[in-house]
Amino acid sequence: MSRFWSGFVKELDPYVPGEQPKLANLTKLNTNENPYGPSPKVIEAIRMAASDRLRLYPDPTSAELRQAIADFYQIDSAYVFVGNGSDEVLGHVFNALFRHEAPILFPDISYSFYPVYCQLYQISFDKVPLNDAFEIDVDNYSNTNGGIIFPNPNAPTGCLLALSDIEKLLRKNTDSVVVIDEAYIDFGGESAVSLVKDYPNLLVVQTMSKSRSLAGLRIGYAIGQPELIEALVRVKDSFNSYPVDSLASAAGIAAMKDKAYFKDTCQAVIDERNKVVTGLQELGFDVLPSAANFVFASHKQAKAADIAAGLRKEGIIVRHFNKPRIEQFLRISIGTATENQQLLSVMDTLV
Ligand code: PMP
Repeated sequence: MSRFWSGFVKELDPYVPGEQPKLANLTKLNTNENPYGPSPKVIEAIRMAASDRLRLYPDPTSAELRQAIADFYQIDSAYVFVGNGSDEVLGHVFNALFRHEAPILFPDISYSFYPVYCQLYQISFDKVPLNDAFEIDVDNYSNTNGGIIFPNPNAPTGCLLALSDIEKLLRKNTDSVVVIDEAYIDFGGESAVSLVKDYPNLLVVQTMSKSRSLAGLRIGYAIGQPELIEALVRVKDSFNSYPVDSLASAAGIAAMKDKAYFKDTCQAVIDERNKVVTGLQELGFDVLPSAANFVFASHKQAKAADIAAGLRKEGIIVRHFNKPRIEQFLRISIGTATENQQLLSVMDTLV
């Protein structure tokens, strides 16, 4: 039977996000949300915006939000692009900046949205294997005219690359757009935003879903030289010239301004992560060094799938990927102190 849509859409294999369970009493450590919630100043900003801005269309250029992000990084706002979550920003990046005829490179173990965008926009790609320590080795990335993308810290491993490695990569690949997806950078990493002025081919993508605890509002952004930003704006305007709604804008501005809350909650996540790592190691897990708000751990004896099933029976959900090389790992988001303690206690009965 003939279909009304174009042939390749039937072949699309869309990204499947982590489970968002309906039951409220579960301990949800499966999608790397921030356990602490947004700053009280953000809630107040949303309240104010709800009372006087909903009747009007938002500013199509998101000027105030872009300025707040620019101020945080001490950069000109012409370097900032915003969108509905970094997933949408990444969609525009793939569409606007990666050439369809030249393969792009990303790690074989990485964010599973990248191959989906490649399929959607018909961009070819080559997967570059992680090294034996599950790290990205920048020496393995050489591309001309294509593009390079990976998360730093990588997901789902949590492993961090130093800024000096990113710079080495940039120096070697001046003809390729290099996109660093910094969804988790604020939990111990050093952002490559400081390099964008020196490297016209660098684009840094970030999100307010993790370190600013605004996953529900969908705010992401990209920082790069104005030429790259302009390419994104052209693609974005062709979809929807009002990218970030008024409530999300107000919240995002307040979140960027409340630096003290941001710093304290990131540090609290890091402190809790250290406790979770120690606790898991004491239970016989190998834990990859993490600079994210999650850990990636494999047990010396017990099977990851069985542990995940056992945790679920006790109301705790974590992420298990049934993929080559990582089927023995669990990705566990860092929760509140109480949730992490509960995780370790239940884990103790399972391994
Ligand atoms: N990049 C990476 C590496 C991620 O893990 C995520 C979250 N799933 C995203 C981007 C997208 O985050 P958001 O769309 O919430 O900004």
